[in-house]
Amino acid sequence: MTMTEPLNQKASDYFSPDYATARARFLTAARKAGGALTAHPHPLKGPGGEDLSMDVARIGPIHAEKVLSIISGTHGIEGYCGSAIQTALLEGGLADGLPADTALVFIHALNPHGFAWGRRVNEDNIDLNRNFVDFNAPLPSNEDYALLHDALLPDEWTQATQTALLESILDFVKTRGQQAYVDAVSTGQYTYPKGLFFGGHGPSWSNKTVRAIFETELAPARALAFFDIHTGLGERGMGELLSTVAPDSPSFALAQQWLGADIRSTQAGTSVSADVKGSMKAALIDRLTQEPGRERQIMAVSIEYGTKPQSDVGAALMADNWLHMKGKGLDDPQAVAIKQAIRSVFLIEEDDWAGMVHEQAERHIRNALKGLASA
Ligand SMILES: [Zn+2]
Repeated sequence: MTMTEPLNQKASDYFSPDYATARARFLTAARKAGGALTAHPHPLKGPGGEDLSMDVARIGPIHAEKVLSIISGTHGIEGYCGSAIQTALLEGGLADGLPADTALVFIHALNPHGFAWGRRVNEDNIDLNRNFVDFNAPLPSNEDYALLHDALLPDEWTQATQTALLESILDFVKTRGQQAYVDAVSTGQYTYPKGLFFGGHGPSWSNKTVRAIFETELAPARALAFFDIHTGLGERGMGELLSTVAPDSPSFALAQQWLGADIRSTQAGTSVSADVKGSMKAALIDRLTQEPGRERQIMAVSIEYGTKPQSDVGAALMADNWLHMKGKGLDDPQAVAIKQAIRSVFLIEEDDWAGMVHEQAERHIRNALKGLASA
């Protein structure tokens, strides 16, 4: 894609085939846009031996009092979409004509290990949006998860074990209801490191790294618009603007005002997402709003793009968890199918989906820049 072409490219042009390509495209676009780049190397490697890194591109003054920040890859594999949005915005000239008091801070691949290995979770099987809890306090309990864990992670992944798994889920739903099932599996759990939606037993590498980036890149700002890009929940191609704060909070009102759009609060039960504890966004808001003597305007939302039906997404996550916890390695023929399936539920490689995703992101982000200009 060149800078003069329209943004709605073919999906094949828009989405990278792997993490290393996505990273290289992002860094090239950021460099061309005049960005200052900082790499935060991850201690592990990707499946092809490639380097992993959380990369920060800052465009604009070091002491900018207003910052617009976009994060990709909080959930690893969802980074294909977020990375494409970041790169296309840079190539499309978002940084051109930026006001003198405003900077862009793009954080690429919050979870580079999951991105490269095709997983939603990180190197420790941790769901990063369950990992930003206070580990010195009692952790959120999720007793219902224990009832499902053994069924969710069978020793073998065969037709028979998948049928048995489905029956266990149906039994649970029959006695407890669909919502209790969704809550049990997806709100997070802190007791089964090999299980689904595991929140961890301490702050992960990504958690510690991004908190340090918050201090240097975001905390000095007086006004902040922050977007975290996700995929896998909601109606195909529709991007829900999702906030973790209560609908009566100032940050929520600011999001409504700046984006001029429907914002859903996970606390109000109106979102496609459950009310999850320990999200990165919530940690950022807590950090920046609870500092005595500092007044800041902070708008922080996720854009959550719908892909496939929830049952398909759930099945792909269960298979992928089995593969990495109990499978025979990524060269196994069964592994190839499982990795293709998980990519296909977090990224729709079709032109119309790519176009919808980008159009919404660009609209919201340009509105946020207008909001910042008035802040
Ligand atoms: Zn996500």
